Amino acid sequence: MEPILTLDNVGFTYDDMPALKGVSLELHSGEILGILGPNGSGKSTLLKIIDGILLPQEGEVLIKEKPIKNLKRSDLAREVAIVAQETHFRFSFTALEVVLMGRFPHLRGLNFEGERDLEVAHNSLEATHALELAERSIHELSGGERQRVLIARALAQEPEIVLFDEPTSFLDLKFKREIFKLISRLSRDKGLSIVLVSHDIDLAAQYCHRILMLRNGTVYNIGKPGDVITSKNIETVYDCPVLVDINPASGRPRVSLKD
Ligand code: ADP
Ligand code: MG
Repeated sequence: MEPILTLDNVGFTYDDMPALKGVSLELHSGEILGILGPNGSGKSTLLKIIDGILLPQEGEVLIKEKPIKNLKRSDLAREVAIVAQETHFRFSFTALEVVLMGRFPHLRGLNFEGERDLEVAHNSLEATHALELAERSIHELSGGERQRVLIARALAQEPEIVLFDEPTSFLDLKFKREIFKLISRLSRDKGLSIVLVSHDIDLAAQYCHRILMLRNGTVYNIGKPGDVITSKNIETVYDCPVLVDINPASGRPRVSLKD
């Protein structure tokens, strides 16, 4: 089966600061690909390139074998949605209004949302178990509630690929679990393809089908969690001594600091 997303030798430089070099990868339909790597290794830059926010100076990004540089912004937004790391709202929008923002690629001209947009927004809130938050202000939600609303907004775009930039960074253990379970469900039940950046190595190991490790803007390793998350690789990429064993509950690798 053809990959839904292909990066072919992608390079990106901010001003004169190279952030990504020779990055190639393929994402398959329904797959969850986890991106690991230390701060500044290029993870967010990679997601922004896939979302078309940044244009690579080298190489190519293809969705279903079509170069995204040839797609209109609204056409690309029907294929890819991003749940960004930091999202600020200047106004006290309700959760429902935030989710309706996700409908922008589907609106024609200056039209307001119609019945179908409301229905999609409703279903998206339902899918993230956030329907009861619909009329609440985005500013008054807890971290976990807010994240569920932002994921619902991404779903309202009706994309095939969803990108997550550190979706669990500020959440407690219960909410981390909820978000990872939700992401799993989106891939399994809705067939969505997912690229997920995380510093929660153990959770990424547990829930992702494959892991890509970035180091200084290059692909250090890509493969099954058990093959990529080894003490040698983690020590090299994160530059600290670790012990990697197997989580007996999941059978996936588990990382602990040695000291
Ligand atoms: P990560 O998400 O892995 O922490 P980023 O993709 O944000 O890494 O950043 C990769 C590199 O690019 C870092 O060295 C960072 O300082 C640099 N960088 C990120 N954004 C910008 C920007 N807007 N302008 C200049 N340099 C940037
Ligand atoms: Mg980042």
